[in-house]
Formats: sequence, C-alpha cells, structure tokens
Amino acid sequence: MKLVQKLRLKVLNNCIDPKKVDNSLEYWSNVLFARSIFALVPLSLLAVVPAIIVCLEEELYNILIFDLSAFISLIIIGFVPGISVKVRKIILISLFFMIAFVFLNELGVFGPGLVFLLASSVVMMIFFPTKRVKLPFILTLIFCILYGVCIHYKVFEIHESMNVPIMAWVAISSNVLFLSALFSNQIPFLFSRLESTIEEQSKLQISLIAANKELQASIDQIEKKNIELEQFAFVASHDLQEPLRTVVSFLGKINKDYKDQFDEKGLQYLNFASDGAIRMKQVILDLLFYSRTGNITEDAVDVDLDLLIQNYKLLRYSIISEKSVSIKADHLPVILSFKSPLTHVFHSILDNAIKYSQDGIDPIIQIVAEERDMEWYFSIEDNGIGIEAEYFDKIFIIFQRLHNQGDYGGTGIGLSVAKKQIESLGGKIWLESVPGKGSKFFFSLPKTKKQ
Ligand code: ADP
Repeated sequence: MKLVQKLRLKVLNNCIDPKKVDNSLEYWSNVLFARSIFALVPLSLLAVVPAIIVCLEEELYNILIFDLSAFISLIIIGFVPGISVKVRKIILISLFFMIAFVFLNELGVFGPGLVFLLASSVVMMIFFPTKRVKLPFILTLIFCILYGVCIHYKVFEIHESMNVPIMAWVAISSNVLFLSALFSNQIPFLFSRLESTIEEQSKLQISLIAANKELQASIDQIEKKNIELEQFAFVASHDLQEPLRTVVSFLGKINKDYKDQFDEKGLQYLNFASDGAIRMKQVILDLLFYSRTGNITEDAVDVDLDLLIQNYKLLRYSIISEKSVSIKADHLPVILSFKSPLTHVFHSILDNAIKYSQDGIDPIIQIVAEERDMEWYFSIEDNGIGIEAEYFDKIFIIFQRLHNQGDYGGTGIGLSVAKKQIESLGGKIWLESVPGKGSKFFFSLPKTKKQ
C-alpha cells in the first residue's frame, strides 16, 4: 500500500505543474491528467498482456513492439522526472494518435483504431482546455485525409479490411470527424463556463478574505478601545476615591463640629451633600468592580451548583424567610467552571428575583440546568413584577435601572456585571418576561475543557 502511495505521489509531482497549484481550470486539468496516467499504467497492462500473448501466437510482431513501446511511453510520461507537464501531455496525445494509426493499419478500418482516433481528439480537448479549441478537430481531419491518401495509394502493407474504396473510408471516418466536431464545439463551451465559475469563486474568496481581514481589524480595534475604556474607568474611579474620601471626611467633621451653627436649611443642605457623597462613593466602587470584571485569573474547578444554591440560601436566610421565598432546583450538576464569576451570576439573578417580587405574592424561583453537546444551559424563573420587552437590552447596561431608589434599592450594576462575566466565559445571557407575571433569565456557558 505504501509503495502504491509512493508511486502515486511521484506521478502527481511529475504531472502537476508546481507553479500552477491554484483553483484554476489548468490546475484541475493537470490533476485529471496525473490521475489518468496513474490509472492508465495498471489498466494498460490489462490490454498489453493479452495482446502480447495473441501477438506472439499470431506472429503480429509489429503490434507487439508497438504495444510494448506504448507501455514504456506511459511509464516515461508518469515517472521520468525533468519533463515539463506540457511535453508529457503532448507525448500522451501523440501516443493516442499512434495507437489509432497502428490499430487501423494492423486490425483494419472496422477495428478499435477509430475509437482511439476519437479518443485522441477528446483527450486533447480535456488536457489542453479552452486553448486552440478547434485544433483537436483539425488534427483528426488531417489524420483522416492523410490516411485516406495512404489507403488510396496503398502506401502501407495493409490489413485486408483496408481494401476499401476511398469513398468508403470517407464515409467511415466522417463519423469520427462528426463526433470530434461535436465535442470540440461543446467541451470547450463547458470548460469556459467552468472557468468563469471558478474565476468568480476565487474573486469571491479573495473579497471574503479581505472582508474578514477588515472585520478582524475592526474587532481588534474595538477590543483595544474596550481595554482602554476599562483602564480609563479603573484609573478614574480609583483616583476619584481619594478626593471623595476627603470630601466625606470633612463633611463629617462639619456635621460634628459646626452643626450648631447651621440653621434648618443649612442642615438640610449638609445632609444632601453627605448623601450625594455616599452615593458617589458607591458609584465609584461599582465602577471599579465593573472595570475589574471579565479578567478571569482563577483556574477552572468543579463547581457544585447544588452546593452553590445551598450556600446562597444560608447567606440570604433572613430575606428568604422574611419574604417566604421558595427556591426550587432539582439536582443541579457539578460543572467545570470558574467559581467566582459563576457565583456572582447566580447571586445577581437570584437577588433580583427576590427583590423584584410582587406585593402579596410569595416569590417562587425555579432553577433548571440542561446539558447540551457543547454547552450548559441554565434558566432562572421568577413570579415577580416582570419587565416590559422594550427594556430587555437596557437592563444589562451599567447603571440602567427601571425603578427609582425609593421603590427598589440598587445601583443598576448586578446584571451588567453578570453579562460581562458570562460573555467573558464565552456564553450568552437573555430573558423572557411578562409584566405582572414574572421573568425568566437564561444563560449558556460553553463547557470548559479539562486542562
Ligand atoms: P439593580 O437591581 O441594582 O437595579 P440590576 O443590574 O441587577 O441592577 O438590574 C437592572 C434592572 O433590571 C433593575 O433595576 C430592574 O428594574 C430590572 N430587573 C432585574 N431583574 C429583574 C427581575 N427579576 N424582575 C423584574 N425586574 C428586574
């Protein structure tokens, strides 16, 4: 098997022009040529071996010598290095014409000679696609005319079936000419169509590659800008903390030491200023947290999601009992993932499911996990106040809230961080919701491979 592979490789190397390894018609014609040669060598043995036996028995030494030299020519075409592909093709086509000639001569005009004559012109059309489209037909015509002349003037020592009048040869050979004309008309048409399709395809491929490059460049730029923005948010929020600390501390000092010197309005202003400073501190902390999110530095571990939910229930014990929350989760899996971001995602969605519950209705939360081929798929459903569809995107943007502080406390950061975390793990988050009935948050996580 290895030897066959080796021989095949040799023929392919010899018969395919290494400078034209593209998707062009010429390349595919060369591939076809190489494959034909590789198939012809063993196949021709099928014809040569019985022919040798018959020739020896019948003393047809001309055919015998010719058969052997034809076989050797095939070996030369396929295996001898240093010959250009074009010359190899010309040798093969000449060989076909020679076979036609010898067979006509030795086996008569009704023998396989005519088949080889037609084959010569078809092979020529296929191995020299679209070039000089009429040449195969013209060569066949010249062959038939010259052969007719030879018959007429009895140039060769000929087979008895060749003793036909010249008009009979014209009639016989015109069949081959007619078929050759038909093929030389149709095959190049097919090839030119194929060529233009291949050209169009390569043009499309080139433009696709260019478009992909552009897209990649834009993605790179966006990623760079994102990193810059995150760094900016981090530096800005980090640096803002220091002056804010000064403001808060001096506001505290004023409140403590000079409280008596303020009238009622002054005290009210002072309280506004303190509240504002506290809120600003929280915003800065959230911004810092958000800018730090997404860079996963920990290793993937087995995360037991049942345990994660149990811990959550313990952590939120008081609010869960105060609001009579029921969290249903049947047999959650243990998944290989990153514990901190995953914990934050579950906590944020569960916190919201409890926070945005409906007055007078005990919150019921259902968690479902589903294993798919390449990912885990989770849903967390609540029976809370629900969200209008027009806000489905907005709630994942940092600091975007649908309610004011008085109705529901919060800073509008939970879901934006959850989205960033899920996306940095390669997943997606989305929701379905009906106002007054409840919301169902979904997220997917690609399966993490074991290191
Ligand atoms: P926060 O809860 O601090 O406002 P989030 O980012 O967690 O911030 O949520 C953004 C907004 O999405 C919330 O203000 C709320 O209006 C809405 N929301 C989130 N979860 C739910 C839910 N389960 N039911 C109804 N509204 C929700």
